[in-house]
Amino acid sequence: MSNISSVDIFICDLPTVRPHKLAMTTITSQAIVVGVIKDNDGLTGISEVATIGGASYGESTVEAIKANIDNYITPHLIGQNPVYFSRIMDTVAKSVRGNFFAKSLIETALIDLAAKQREVPAYELFGGKIHDSLPLAWTLASGDTKRDIEEAKEMLHQKRHNIFKLKIGSGDPDTNVRHVGEIIKAVGDESRITVDINQAWDEYTALKQIKALEEMGVSMIEQPLPTWNYEGMARLTERFDVSILADEAATSLHDTYRIIKERAGDAIALKPAKHGGILETKKIAGIAEAAGFGLYGGTMIESTLGNAIAASVYSTISEFKFGTEIFGPLLYKDKLTLEDIEVKDFEIQIPDDVGFGVTLDQEKLAHYKR
Ligand SMILES: [Mg+2]
Repeated sequence: MSNISSVDIFICDLPTVRPHKLAMTTITSQAIVVGVIKDNDGLTGISEVATIGGASYGESTVEAIKANIDNYITPHLIGQNPVYFSRIMDTVAKSVRGNFFAKSLIETALIDLAAKQREVPAYELFGGKIHDSLPLAWTLASGDTKRDIEEAKEMLHQKRHNIFKLKIGSGDPDTNVRHVGEIIKAVGDESRITVDINQAWDEYTALKQIKALEEMGVSMIEQPLPTWNYEGMARLTERFDVSILADEAATSLHDTYRIIKERAGDAIALKPAKHGGILETKKIAGIAEAAGFGLYGGTMIESTLGNAIAASVYSTISEFKFGTEIFGPLLYKDKLTLEDIEVKDFEIQIPDDVGFGVTLDQEKLAHYKR
């Protein structure tokens, strides 16, 4: 098998089909990073990470991801055999601290390349798939209740989604909780509703609003408090029956261990990019399973390429109590791959083609890269 000859990192901006309103920002165009790793035989491994709203979701920005890979990670890759991705990432970890998104981008491109060299689906290199398809939530975040209800009804009609997540961190909490109530009234019989606060509430607000949300029948409350407030998250988890999901707070293996140990939540949102790759995601799924935490297959709103990577790793994890939300490609106007995602009977279908099952569209990459 042939060794690595080049590593190229591209920053792209992809437009969305509608404004996507979160607590900290409204997305109309998402910045993503594409990794391309070539071997001496000319085979190519590809990968993607996306960042939500500049530096407003997490610390990684696309510009820093590219700069840190080019300067500090690439020198560890040239001449290496990609199938030793575990050893390569272990070496990288000893020289580069943090930088989880950058590490995820590199590790997944290595796995794609190693799988393509062997002509097998990528999931065969980390355990093999358990699921052929997974439940797929949709985020209602147009900023308008009527439009959200119309969107939800259309998704149910198309059999695309029957789990809806509402982004309610921005603006007046009472108004936002009433908005959730109206959506439950309109589509609650045919669907399951969850909410994401994206760290926007203080504990007092959370106590009042989660009580109301629980009574309405909301099934999961995502990251109500800021990431630093482990104690507050633990008090909310103790107090309410509804599941409290840690997302922004559950980044590294060690941060997630602390959440589990302190019961600062009772469910974990997995995202390969925030954990630093597939190997770390599997470790986090393992410690969460050991503690009886529920799992949720999260998204950084990747396009088709990054989404295929998430689908691949999630397909190898036994149980997602809350399903997945890997709908990213459906929010974009365009894509950088020749393939699209496939959704059937409310579930995303796991691709079985070689590597992560996606091929770069070179013309689209040239068009969207900065
Ligand atoms: Mg979230």
